[in-house]
Amino acid sequence: MQARKALIGGEWVTSGETFTVTDPATLEPLAEVTDCGRDLVARALDAAAEALPRWRDTPAAERADLMRAAAGALRDRAEAIGAIMTAEQGKPLAEAVGEVRSGADHLLWAAEETRRLYGETVPGLTEGHRIWLLPEPVGVVAGITPWNFPVSMITRKLGPALAAGCTVVLKPAEPTPLSAVATAEAFTAAGLPPGVFNLVPTSRPAEFAAEVMADPRVGKISFTGSTAVGRNLIRQSADDVKRLSLELGGHAPVLVYPDADVPAAAAAVARGKFLNAGQACTSPNRIFVHRDVVDEFTAALAGHAEAITVGAGAEPGVTMGPLIGDAALAKVERHVEDALARGAKAVTGGRRLPGRGAFYPPTVLSGVTGDMLICREETFGPVAPVLTFGDGDDVVARANDTPYGLVAYLWTGGLNRALRVTEALRFGMVTVNGGPVAPPQGPFGGVKNSGYGREGGHHGVADYLEYKYVSVGLDQ
Ligand code: NAD
Repeated sequence: MQARKALIGGEWVTSGETFTVTDPATLEPLAEVTDCGRDLVARALDAAAEALPRWRDTPAAERADLMRAAAGALRDRAEAIGAIMTAEQGKPLAEAVGEVRSGADHLLWAAEETRRLYGETVPGLTEGHRIWLLPEPVGVVAGITPWNFPVSMITRKLGPALAAGCTVVLKPAEPTPLSAVATAEAFTAAGLPPGVFNLVPTSRPAEFAAEVMADPRVGKISFTGSTAVGRNLIRQSADDVKRLSLELGGHAPVLVYPDADVPAAAAAVARGKFLNAGQACTSPNRIFVHRDVVDEFTAALAGHAEAITVGAGAEPGVTMGPLIGDAALAKVERHVEDALARGAKAVTGGRRLPGRGAFYPPTVLSGVTGDMLICREETFGPVAPVLTFGDGDDVVARANDTPYGLVAYLWTGGLNRALRVTEALRFGMVTVNGGPVAPPQGPFGGVKNSGYGREGGHHGVADYLEYKYVSVGLDQ
């Protein structure tokens, strides 16, 4: 059955070995997927390298048309691919379908950028000297994506890579290869040329990394996932001096000042926190609320948490699904137990739900302090830790006191404070009076241990380009 194979050079292939995908709502096996070893990764790199010159030299408008068709096919299949995503990842069907649509938007936006890959001319040294900058694709791109947003993470890499004229070999995360395969099917049906996008599911990600790192045709590796794996990739990239983009973990602070619209802040924090059961790099993890409004805020946040219906993502009415698996659940339990033992209070939730499946309720903790595990490590679960600050406290320093630097959220009615605090926060992204936003036009990405490189916007496309500096002496 096609839905379980790898896509290499336009052909659906099997390795003879498979690995099992599990439904996190039941912990039952869902499907078998072909398990690609280094030989198939090498074949995929051959296919991408072979397709590269033709794709790179295809006129921009034609490339844009093919990408638009791919985006359209994804959009047309959003319901079907969303259902597959819900089965393997657990998120509610509406969220999954929304993610496929937003994935299509990323591809569409990048398609439009294809026609705007401008070079530059720079004043020369003399009358007869010219300097030009020519944008050129970095070459074959290897992509590695996580399981939490299994389709949009693909198109956020694929869109700018294809726009820049690169071809791609992508490895989906082990828990979620099925929606990736369905996405690849949509692209093939839309007429994306063979070899331009290759998909190699595997249960051995380190082998994939070793193969792409060793291949001199790979011009760039784009990775989204944990900081631990990102560090490994940096080390491995040294031998062949490979270019990397790293979208890594986060530990987002929220700062709610007393002049904020508190109900709006609580609603947005709840949306951002409980989206995807808290399994997002942008998830609010340390919610600093001014003493004057903390009771109002916490009560409102708990109200939103209690209005959530937890269950299998495919069930009607369910608004939050299970965690990805038992290990994820155990980490959430460890963080909550540590916080409670050190004096935090569970305002709502705080204990795993009975039954099979990795279900944990939306949880709000009050009285959280910076020494607790939950303030140090990424929880990746539906737990909202509320901390308090007062007028004399340097809350910005507390917010910055993390090795991560992906996104920070700030709620205030004062323009002066909004600007001052935004400038003082050491994060790649700051949201003022709003929740997580990752539209195609925004250059998404972090600083510090959250990685480097940007996805989205024209900066995101530039990450897949080399600017060749050409110096020309005329009249020689
Ligand atoms: P993970 O690092 O375990 O896995 C991510 C990907 O890396 C998967 O495809 C996995 O197979 C692969 N991988 C694992 N070991 C590898 C190795 N040795 N070599 C090469 N690849 C390897 O992370 P995860 O649990 O799937 O995802 C959650 C993490 O991703 C969180 O830390 C989250 O914050 C982060 N994330 C970041 C962003 C962002 O844009 N900054 C977005 C989503 C998720």
